[in-house]
Parts: sequence; C-alpha cells; structure tokens
Amino acid sequence: MAGLATHIHYDHVLWHPDLGNGPRWATPGTVHQSIESRTQVLAPLLGDLPDDLIAIAARLTPLAGPELEWRGPKAIVHEHNAHVEHHLALEVPDWGLLVAGDMLSDVELPYPDPDDAGLDAYRAGLDSLREVVLRTEIVVAGHGTTGYDVRERWDADRRYLDDVLTRGESDDPRIGLEDQAELHRSTCALAAQSTPHRGPAAATMGS
Ligand SMILES: [Zn+2]
Repeated sequence: MAGLATHIHYDHVLWHPDLGNGPRWATPGTVHQSIESRTQVLAPLLGDLPDDLIAIAARLTPLAGPELEWRGPKAIVHEHNAHVEHHLALEVPDWGLLVAGDMLSDVELPYPDPDDAGLDAYRAGLDSLREVVLRTEIVVAGHGTTGYDVRERWDADRRYLDDVLTRGESDDPRIGLEDQAELHRSTCALAAQSTPHRGPAAATMGS
C-alpha cells in the first residue's frame, strides 16, 4: 500500500498504522514543508487525534520525478502553486482520471493561499491544468464528490476568479454552501490586492 499527499495541509497528510509502512509520496517541496514546518502543519490536529497518529502524520516521501514509480498505470504528477505552494494533481491517462487535491471541487470555491495577493498563483495553477482537464474524464476532488463534470468545474473556478478580480463579486452558487461565505470574503480581499493589469480572461473550456 502506498499513499499520496497532494499538498501540505493537515487533512491531507494523515495516516494510520493499519495502512502499513508504504511510501506516502508528495512533491519534494511539500516534503520540505512537512519537515521545516511540522509543528505548524499539525497544530490543528492537537487535541483531536491521539499522539500515536500525530506521530505518523506528515511523514512523507519525495517523488523522484514527474511520474509515479509504482506498478500501476502511467501516472503523471502536475505540480503547481494554486491553493498552496507545491500542490500536485495526479493524472492517470489510461483511466482518464485526475486526482485534483483541493481544487476543482463541487462544494468548495477556489481556495487561494492567504499570501496569494491578486490570486496570481491560483490563476497560474488552474491554467496549468487546463490541457490536462481537457483530456480528463473523471475528477476526484479532495472535498466534495467525484465527478464527470471536470470541464464545467474548471470553467466555474476560472469564472469565479475572473469575477472576483474584475467585479469584486460573484454569483457562484457555492458561496451559499457551508463555510464558503467566509472564504469568499477573504478571497475578495485578496483579489482587491491585485494590480489592475489584466482584463477579463477569455479562457474557457468551450463546453
Ligand atoms: Zn488544502
């Protein structure tokens, strides 16, 4: 058994002894974060998890390259800096599958890093996945449901970013879901820190 941590956030680096001692791969940058900032990363778990589970959380193995070294089908790592630095998405072309981490969710708005003033890193990361999404059939999101609507999700996320950057508001229906109004407010505040050098983006999936 092996694991994959798409990014450094505490809810994506958990493990259990019953899963064995297989590698839990992550990008080298995420592994670095897990060592340098271990206390900070795991702080939200203190008091909620027994010490033995905290002790084995965030024990990650760096990926050796852009493809997973496993006995399964070809699996391509797409690293970007949306949501948090060194985030990865994993593509399994033979299955038409994209494991998106904390992106392309049907129940969460785009969730930028608190340092991503102007949302440049999020936009760049989302745009870096555009070609991947075009050849993807099914998306597994870290929160929400697995879906065949990956192109629609990509379009919705891109539209949301463009709306908050150009209008400072959005009519994305996800704003009404649990915890999303507060995220929307903080994202609008980040968007307001952008420099006015861009107009509305035209990129869509055309679907
Ligand atoms: Zn996350």
